[in-house]
Amino acid sequence: MKNIFDETLESLAATLEHEGFKPFAAKQIFDWIYKKRVHDFARMSNLAKPLRQHLLDHYMVGRLETVRRVVSEDGTKKYLFGLKDHHLIEAVLMAHPYGKSLCVTTQVGCNIGCAFCASGLEKKTRDLTVGEMVMQVLEVESLEAERVSHVVIMGTGEPFDNYDNVMAFIDIINAPHGLEIGARHITVSTSGIVPNIDAFATRPLQVNLAISLHAPNDAIRSRLMKINHVYPMDALLESVKRYVDATNRRVTFEYILLDHVNDDIAHADELSNRIRGINAYVNVIRYNPVGEFDFKPSEETRARAFFDRLMKRGIVATYRRERGGDINAACGQLRIREQKGR
Ligand code: SAH
Ligand code: SF4
Repeated sequence: MKNIFDETLESLAATLEHEGFKPFAAKQIFDWIYKKRVHDFARMSNLAKPLRQHLLDHYMVGRLETVRRVVSEDGTKKYLFGLKDHHLIEAVLMAHPYGKSLCVTTQVGCNIGCAFCASGLEKKTRDLTVGEMVMQVLEVESLEAERVSHVVIMGTGEPFDNYDNVMAFIDIINAPHGLEIGARHITVSTSGIVPNIDAFATRPLQVNLAISLHAPNDAIRSRLMKINHVYPMDALLESVKRYVDATNRRVTFEYILLDHVNDDIAHADELSNRIRGINAYVNVIRYNPVGEFDFKPSEETRARAFFDRLMKRGIVATYRRERGGDINAACGQLRIREQKGR
């Protein structure tokens, strides 16, 4: 049985045509599942009976099991979902003045294994399917009876290590016949998989790209992120430049501040020199502590000084307050807790 949420409009139309049905029925099916939210093929009354039967015989309408839903004092909501093969994944919903943004998971575990990240504590078990990503959005919308207006692909996993599925996921949530989330409201974050940054640059959609930089030089970055041995900073920054040239889009550099690791004034200067001239802004955020590691978040005053220095050196930057700290909202944390408790 195939999961209907794995299908893009194009793939569904092609399959239907191959099976002898009219390809335009794909639009009608999308309309039922994504607009009317009818998840029972038998109730899709405008489809010909043989097609309804075909769908019943070959497709299932997937569901995620909601294992846990935790609400933070600041309103951030975290979900622990069970997959069909019983693996657990997380999603986080944040309320903003401009809408609700959902942080979506792309893999079970993560092979990149960054030194500070709870998600990297476990090697990747498998990639998520397209449908398992789509269902995170649908399940949260149904649980909260609210529309998800923004999607950040920043949950557990490296999106560019599950590239094709993540691209199909983006197509479905963005499409007018799908969830209609504007491309500018979608952000994908990568630890810096250079070949797929280049691939991403060739795509027409105006989806935002975030790069997890976290360091001003190779020595520090390699210590924090093993991937830096494969794609060192020069190669990474060159690919970012190519991306900006090709797309005219501004990128975001994520920079988590780790106490006395990457948060000196000298580091801010080094970072400024390194990225000057690239159409980008730096998202400075204090580290969300993870019990398994010794890293600490920078003190507020150090964080503020680092941020001020970047601005003074002419780098566009934002300093975000961290959210959901009381519910282990940092990437991968709840899942780790839950598995230990089991
Ligand atoms: N694998 C991708 C996307 C998922 S991680 C990537 O690394 O970009 C999303 C972001 O959360 C990354 O910038 C990552 O470095 C950051 N992150 C991971 N653990 C964190 C923590 N404990 N506190 C703050 N940010 C964290
Ligand atoms: Fe994987 Fe991103 Fe965590 Fe690194 S920060 S281990 S790439 S999820």
